[in-house]
Amino acid sequence: MILFMGLPDGSLHTTQMIRQQVLICMKEMRAVHSYKTIGTDLTTLRRKPAVRAIDHLCVHSGEVPFLSFPLLDEQDWLMNCFSTRLGGVSEEGLAALNLSYTREKGGREKVDENFRRMAESAGFPAEDMVLSWQTHTTNIRVVREEDRGKGFTSQRDYCDIDGLVTDVPGLVLVTFYGDCVPLLAADPVRHVIGAAHSGWKGTLNNIGGELIRTMKETYGCDPADMIAAIGPSICSDCFEVDRDVADAFRAKTDPDVFEKICRTASDPEKRKAGKHHIDLQEACRQNFLHAGLAFDRISVPDVCSCCNSDLLFSHRGSPEEHGLMAAFLGILQRKKR
Ligand SMILES: [Zn+2]
Repeated sequence: MILFMGLPDGSLHTTQMIRQQVLICMKEMRAVHSYKTIGTDLTTLRRKPAVRAIDHLCVHSGEVPFLSFPLLDEQDWLMNCFSTRLGGVSEEGLAALNLSYTREKGGREKVDENFRRMAESAGFPAEDMVLSWQTHTTNIRVVREEDRGKGFTSQRDYCDIDGLVTDVPGLVLVTFYGDCVPLLAADPVRHVIGAAHSGWKGTLNNIGGELIRTMKETYGCDPADMIAAIGPSICSDCFEVDRDVADAFRAKTDPDVFEKICRTASDPEKRKAGKHHIDLQEACRQNFLHAGLAFDRISVPDVCSCCNSDLLFSHRGSPEEHGLMAAFLGILQRKKR
């Protein structure tokens, strides 16, 4: 009941095709990813480091549909999912599954309900969540057992946290998105996970590298062992920026990498006005590669939030207010010792 959808060339046509398939699949399929049934038997643990599928995305349909990354699904000690805007109780621009408390007017109830729906659909206890506090920094928090529920069942006693890492089984790291790039990383050897919000500032300042460095220094992870996913976020066609943003990237990026992630606008008028397009997903991949991850262990589904603003929340794709989606990443159990 899981559909694997390839995006071989990353073209717009592919994005359109995927979008249609997502719509169809969300109607026809039922959620199958269960926290309770996956990986609870120690004997089923696999330690294979190999990665079979890249550049793919799973769609889990049902009343509250969600997405997941097969690269992470393959690891039976991991729970991963990514919300869409479908299946919640929020209204208007926030319709329907808004997961941002700050954007929801009139109290926490609707967002609480949206989180509960999402958790139930994906099969994890909502009380296990630990929420980031995103302000476009590169700050990473090492999440411990005592953080369980923070941001949901209790107040966060931290702020300015755009990335979370942990080795505690049963905790679910939650980070938020509405065009910015979701970064999910996992070490299958040491069973450590990390999630980070990488907007253009975070990408420029290399929060992906900070995430990997924190996993390395805190838990002794080897980046060569790691796998990672770069989630739905704004594509380079949709992400037009002024010259100053392009210049900031140029100043901080190797010329050969810069060539891959930035181009001038094709429209002559826009070109004259200094408009550029930045490929944030590719920039994040480059940050991961620079941190030591292997190319074939980084999954980039190449799904644009802005091109799919009816399914996904998008800052640029929304005329007025918009909600936020979230990525959820958790450890189901410790590896067999
Ligand atoms: Zn787009």
